[in-house]
Amino acid sequence: MNENKSKPEKPVAKMTAYHASLDNFSPKRPEGQQNGQRRPRGSFFAKGQSSDRRVQTPVRHTQSQRRPNQQNGGRQEMVSFKASKNLKICHLGGLEMVGKNMAFLEHGNDIMIVDAGFAFPSDDMPGVDYVIPDVSYLTENRSRIRGLVLTHGHMDHIGAIPYIIEKIGNPTIYGTNLTIGLLKEKLEEFGLAKRVKTVVINPEKDQLKLGIFKVGFYRVNHNIPDTVGLVIDTPDGKVVHTADFKFDLTPINEPVVDLGKIAEIGKNGVLALLMDSTGARNSGYAISESEIKQNLGELFRKAKGRIFIASFSTLISRIQQIIDVTVSVNRKLTITGRSMLAAVEVAGKLGYLKVPQDLIITLQRASKYPDDKIVILSTGTQGEDASALTRMSRGEHKFFKIRRGDTVVLSSSIIPGNERSVVEVYDNLLRAGAKVVDYRQMDIHTSGHAHQEELKTMIRLINPKYFIPVHGNRYMRQANAELAKALGYEEDKLIIVDDGEVVELSKDKSSVLKLRIPTSLVLVDGLGVGDVGNIVLRDRQAMAEGGIFVIILTIDHRSGEIITSPDIISRGFVYMRAAENLIHRARAEIRSIFKHHISRNNVDLQYIKTVLREEMGEFLYEETKRRPMVIPVIIEV
Ligand SMILES: [Zn+2]
Ligand SMILES: [Zn+2]
Repeated sequence: MNENKSKPEKPVAKMTAYHASLDNFSPKRPEGQQNGQRRPRGSFFAKGQSSDRRVQTPVRHTQSQRRPNQQNGGRQEMVSFKASKNLKICHLGGLEMVGKNMAFLEHGNDIMIVDAGFAFPSDDMPGVDYVIPDVSYLTENRSRIRGLVLTHGHMDHIGAIPYIIEKIGNPTIYGTNLTIGLLKEKLEEFGLAKRVKTVVINPEKDQLKLGIFKVGFYRVNHNIPDTVGLVIDTPDGKVVHTADFKFDLTPINEPVVDLGKIAEIGKNGVLALLMDSTGARNSGYAISESEIKQNLGELFRKAKGRIFIASFSTLISRIQQIIDVTVSVNRKLTITGRSMLAAVEVAGKLGYLKVPQDLIITLQRASKYPDDKIVILSTGTQGEDASALTRMSRGEHKFFKIRRGDTVVLSSSIIPGNERSVVEVYDNLLRAGAKVVDYRQMDIHTSGHAHQEELKTMIRLINPKYFIPVHGNRYMRQANAELAKALGYEEDKLIIVDDGEVVELSKDKSSVLKLRIPTSLVLVDGLGVGDVGNIVLRDRQAMAEGGIFVIILTIDHRSGEIITSPDIISRGFVYMRAAENLIHRARAEIRSIFKHHISRNNVDLQYIKTVLREEMGEFLYEETKRRPMVIPVIIEV
């Protein structure tokens, strides 16, 4: 919208050329962290519960243009704003996808951070577990960080913390009771619980002083309790952050959004509003959690046999609805899936889930219960391979196999990129004879985030000078800006930027700085954080597409001649036994390439490997029109 307008008159910030020493990034391995596995912990649930490998989160990012940084060779310009006096706002994630939300505000010598979440990888990142924000700028400036403030406990807002917190100098983390509870659960998994400082804030009373910033809170509704918006006092004016929000006048198990307080904030003059854009394309109002509960109740009452319901573990409000409805239809509840168990345990302990005594029973007991007396709550709405629902649909679950008479409720829509695996689970459920209810209204994106009328109300109440849509792809943020425009905002008051772009604000002007903060995708694979970069990923893609073709040559180091017939190992390229003819010709080709390039007095093995790779690649393509990754190995004896 205003990118054109907002060219800075002259570069304000001091540029400090800096070769990102990403080697410093070698992850300190948290004790007890086992490739995504969790240490068994005390639990009030049954022993022997199955476990999901992935922690689930209600959002997954869609494709992003940005590529991962090749960490070891990547050189990046690093900037510092110390020279500039005005307020800066920058997002390290969350503006080009729904996921990995992280932003920071900077003024003079002080930096404060808002949220630090992860995103799920896209289909072209084989083997990658999570994508986290690039925090190299914050690492470089860690001595100036005054705190990390969390808006709520969803993984796209807190999931990256275990990976980045020590790199950015371990700043204190502030959040509401449930948010900190869910974070601690995660920190414990990484053996970081004792090392990371967390502070539980009371949104009604507390005001934080983080360097020059003063941070106050107000309650909003979302689909997890204890979500708070932020009011940040800066020397240039107030910045209001909505968090992920909706206005729910009949929420479940949490206070109603504090409209009075929001209106009060607006009266005092607001410089900028950062507002959730996820639902900006949906007309009307987001559905109330109470209405979802009613509909769920109807579904449950209609079901004759067992009820299976799959949801996201961090959708605490949804889990409460499921608990309430289960009680109302006089059934017992059992839970399968590690992340679901953990979330229910934490939220229950902190009082955010009201779980009647004796409602939850072990899987073992549940498997022997009458069909019409049991509800099975599980993970797996996105068809994740190891999830409880996927295993039940394939008949691989220890306690439950789906059969005729079962009702299966999928309580959230498919996140882009997961379609194929969800369809497979869907098919398997139907094949097994279940009735499958794909419950649209429970869609996380339409149920948890404000629709257009709520967004407009928020803008009206806060009445900011500048409007910065956040949390969502460009098209969502653009739609959000259109709403502000309809309310009379001029183009130059609407700020649409991408990740890494720096907005500078003062009382009477806004600009987008020319320099950009690094925001390459940092990939988490098992214990490695950021070590999987472009090259590793490209290799994985090549192997996934064409397979591998390994040539093993044994040569005499004196004569430089091939001693035995070249060995060939291939995976994912051709079935070797069925391709004997091809392999035979490949061997002859290898010999001829070798003979052609070898010279008796100078055996340059590196050179031989390169020509073997190239010429055999060509040969195999001519023969098969496939491009496997060719790996020559030469052994001298
Ligand atoms: Zn959220
Ligand atoms: Zn979010």
